[in-house]
Amino acid sequence: MGWIEVIVGPMFSGKSEELIRRLRRAEIARQRVQIFKPVIDQRYTVNGIVSHSGLEISSDLVKDASEILTKVEPRTEVIGIDEAQFLGEALVEVCTKLADMGKRVMVSGLDTDFMGRPFEPMPRLLAVAEEITKLLAICVRCGNPAVNTQRLVASEDLIVVGAAGMYEARCRRCFEPQLATQKIEEEKKTAVKSRAASG
Ligand code: ADP
Ligand code: ZN
Repeated sequence: MGWIEVIVGPMFSGKSEELIRRLRRAEIARQRVQIFKPVIDQRYTVNGIVSHSGLEISSDLVKDASEILTKVEPRTEVIGIDEAQFLGEALVEVCTKLADMGKRVMVSGLDTDFMGRPFEPMPRLLAVAEEITKLLAICVRCGNPAVNTQRLVASEDLIVVGAAGMYEARCRRCFEPQLATQKIEEEKKTAVKSRAASG
């Protein structure tokens, strides 16, 4: 019997670490493992999942969810997918198909975006999963458990890839969902001022 297990939480909550831990154990058990991540995330290495604490496991790059289906070999028993929030809506169908084929599918990704909104396709994946693990980070402001990913740079794009310096973990109380938008407004104002000053 196949199944889907999902690991969610904000950045720095240990999702990659947990995924790598589970995949290593499957390898130790001599199961046939294949690991995928979206081509969009190249924060540390081109091939391979790397956690913020430096754990690493090699992986195959895919540009979308459907490419996973074409790359999965019939003999594969365990499939790991990291940064799944970047793989698009088709991921739910792809994971369902793989689990129906009898494979153990482990998926890790952000469940909310930089404004705290549900980050598709993770919420729908949670709905069809057999097992869910929600991890929390530590709020860098106050030390409480952090459920949110705080964006620190001025951008309202849903996808801005980056790690230290661009994002930090924040708890419910310290989270500022409008910070990125406020920074854009501030940048506009200083641009207007400097234009005025230079005549
Ligand atoms: P994720 O995949 O969820 O972004 P990783 O598995 O890559 O998380 O990294 C988790 C590791 O990041 C932790 O074990 C810890 O060493 C480190 N870390 C850095 N900042 C924080 C933080 N604010 N809260 C918790 N862990 C942090
Ligand atoms: Zn806090």
